[in-house]
Amino acid sequence: MAVTIRAQVNPEICRYPLGMTGGQIQDEDITASSQWSESTAARFGRLDFDTGDGDGAWCPDIMSEPDGFTEYLQVDLRSLHFITLVGTQGRHADGMGNEFAQRYRIKYSRDGSSWVGWHDRTGKQVIEGNRNTYDAVLKDLEPPIIARFVRFMPVTDPSMIVCMRVELYGCEWLDGLVSYNIPDGHQMIYRGLEIFFNDSVYDGATAQRLTKGLGQLTDGTWGLDDFLHSHVPGVWPGYDYVGWSNKTFPKGYVEMIFDFDHIRNFTSMKVHCSNMFSRGVRQFRQATCYFRSESEWESDPVSFRPAAEPPSQSARFVTMPLGDRTARSIKCRFHFSDQWMLFSEVAFQSGSAVYNTSLGPNKDGRSKKTLLGDDPTHKVDDSNTRILIGCLVAIIAILSAIIVTILWRQVWQKMLEKASRRWLDDELTARLAVQTQAFYFLNSSLSSEDGSTSTYERIYPPRADYQEPSRLIRKLPEFAECTEHIESGASCRAAISSDVAPHYAEADIISLQESSDNSSITAVSINLFAGSDSTLREFPREKLTFKEKLGEGQFGEVHLCEAVGMQDILDDDLSVEGGGESPFLVAVKMLREDANKNARNDFLKEIRIMSRLRDPNIVSLLAVCVDTDPLCMITEYMENGDLNQFLCSLRQKADREEGNDEVSYMKLLGMAVQIASGMKYLSSLNFVHRDLATRNCLVGKNDTIKIADFGMSRNLYRGDYFRIQGRAVLPIRWMSWESILLGKFTMASDVWAFGVTLWEILTLCEEQPYSQLSDEQVIENTGEFFRNQGKQVCLPKPQRCPERIYNDLMLSCWRRNANERPSFQEIHTQLTESMA
Ligand code: ADP
Repeated sequence: MAVTIRAQVNPEICRYPLGMTGGQIQDEDITASSQWSESTAARFGRLDFDTGDGDGAWCPDIMSEPDGFTEYLQVDLRSLHFITLVGTQGRHADGMGNEFAQRYRIKYSRDGSSWVGWHDRTGKQVIEGNRNTYDAVLKDLEPPIIARFVRFMPVTDPSMIVCMRVELYGCEWLDGLVSYNIPDGHQMIYRGLEIFFNDSVYDGATAQRLTKGLGQLTDGTWGLDDFLHSHVPGVWPGYDYVGWSNKTFPKGYVEMIFDFDHIRNFTSMKVHCSNMFSRGVRQFRQATCYFRSESEWESDPVSFRPAAEPPSQSARFVTMPLGDRTARSIKCRFHFSDQWMLFSEVAFQSGSAVYNTSLGPNKDGRSKKTLLGDDPTHKVDDSNTRILIGCLVAIIAILSAIIVTILWRQVWQKMLEKASRRWLDDELTARLAVQTQAFYFLNSSLSSEDGSTSTYERIYPPRADYQEPSRLIRKLPEFAECTEHIESGASCRAAISSDVAPHYAEADIISLQESSDNSSITAVSINLFAGSDSTLREFPREKLTFKEKLGEGQFGEVHLCEAVGMQDILDDDLSVEGGGESPFLVAVKMLREDANKNARNDFLKEIRIMSRLRDPNIVSLLAVCVDTDPLCMITEYMENGDLNQFLCSLRQKADREEGNDEVSYMKLLGMAVQIASGMKYLSSLNFVHRDLATRNCLVGKNDTIKIADFGMSRNLYRGDYFRIQGRAVLPIRWMSWESILLGKFTMASDVWAFGVTLWEILTLCEEQPYSQLSDEQVIENTGEFFRNQGKQVCLPKPQRCPERIYNDLMLSCWRRNANERPSFQEIHTQLTESMA
């Protein structure tokens, strides 16, 4: 019996969302290799879901795998599915997000243990992903995959942050076929033309026979009448078919074994065959199938002969009844009736599972599920009553969800309002944790005076006059009211000594959990250079000669050293300060000997981040000494030290020599342009610095400015940000309101910090930003940004700053809405143009 209708799974119709967006896929079925934080866990990786209670997407911990490329988001569909399409999206999070995967790969598995990397018909594995944080990008899987588990693996430089939201589209794989075992196809020469009948998309083992996989016989694409042509553009002749010549089969038949997910009751098998008898190709003459439920093949096979020799040469489905035999494996012998036998598709019907090509899998857009190892009597029920009830239940559920959401929002808004006001009234303490709710201001009764075990520490002394937020503006007329751009005529007050107001809001942080053990550290250091793209080299420590101490950082001392032979190991294209000079001077940052494991790990992570950054305005890491202790990173030496000190000394010099034009506005603008350029580079990599300030920029010869200090950036989103022992610092005067209140660090919060840095430059670091405000008042002002009732204040216009730069650029960096702040690209252009 020859059937010419489409009874096989149809990839054009089988394109239903499988439940990431719709919620049919449960949270527990979405897992990941790692996550930045609880708020970017796997369950937030649902396409078109925005923030919810998380940060709006799944984001892997880029530091957990030294070589990148291996982080994944895994979806368990609970049963085999035919997947034709995938969709990805970045992390938008109401404009706070800035991360997306430009490229990714797919891996899949049918049993959860053996995994296959998907590739297209040309062998390409990498799929082009997103270009922004919000658009969903859909990609057809050609060939489609049959799988229960699917992994999305962002392809990225390991030091860059990526986040993904995903959806899978397809339908349930009702055949239940998990693998077929066949001899691979042969090559035919037809009138001098080479025709390949191999199974080119087989995903199992390909030794003498093809085993443990699926391929072209189940890809849903059946061959054309003329096997020289194909539906698929740009492929070789014979592409659609797997075919065999009778010469290699002395017994006159080809044996194939089909394995299924569980024992099924088989009604029929359909084989799509070519029948071009003018070229020696015919449908099979006879098929004999054996059945196996346990370990032995049953002795009574089912045999079948297609009724009559069909007169036409068109390709066809031949349907073979299987007599409701029960089996988990079927072995069929297809007998040649001519020189060649070509198959393009094999399908099975078992129980009452039938593809319904017009209706699709299910009314709710998701296919029905058959659990692996489940009851084999799987039924597809299209009863109208059931559908109607289903629809009604769905409508009721949606309505209830809408009502609950509205109520919840109202409650939540009220709570936020109350909470933010309470912060201002209470005696404040801060609990430092960079997660979604990064800051909790708690009553100081929680703080421990000796700082021994508590994670809370008093950072603000209670003050009597600290009750009425709106007094900020009255008290401090020299600040600009951001909303109205009030310009200050008054010059800045003398800086409050840093003894009185610390440079940062400081808090003693107790080492919370010394959880990582030595083995993990060793792994990091061993794998540090495993990535083939790494340009980092180990430098022989004995070739470093100490010259002087440059400073002291959070990890330990920074020394100026002479490095013999450094020149020889550097790439020619690397623009390095001091390059070409002899002796070659370098800055060597050393990890202090008593550093704990976490600090050591963090030091290695900073090395990894820096090793991948290359830009004229980013400090270059030249080499490392990590074979033995103490760990060292060797960076280019910036002979004029950090920009803060540099500007201070410029100012003092100018004060001494009145009329000194060294501090021209153009010179200062030139510095800002360089910082903007470095930040533009970082933003092109989707990289958030988190601690941009003049103190973290270094000055080389001829006023070259380079951004340094990636100590903060390494921990984006990490809940364990403050685990390192010692004094953790928070640059609140440089931080955007959303970074302080919500723990959101994005490119837009870097832009905020750039505005403050620009302000520092144009005031020659004469005073600390908001120097008249205590730390608690700075946070109070942050609360005003949050409430947005026009009471927030911004830094005043520096004397040297033209009106236009202040109004159009500086203030725009401090816009409340992160989306409305300019990008570094725009800042760079604007500053460059204003220099012309
Ligand atoms: P950390 O960020 O770990 O606190 P830093 O990198 O800021 O430490 O280094 C501390 C000080 O050492 C800086 O303020 C600066 O004066 C000096 N320093 C660091 N790196 C260099 C360098 N590459 N060239 C010149 N001076 C440097």
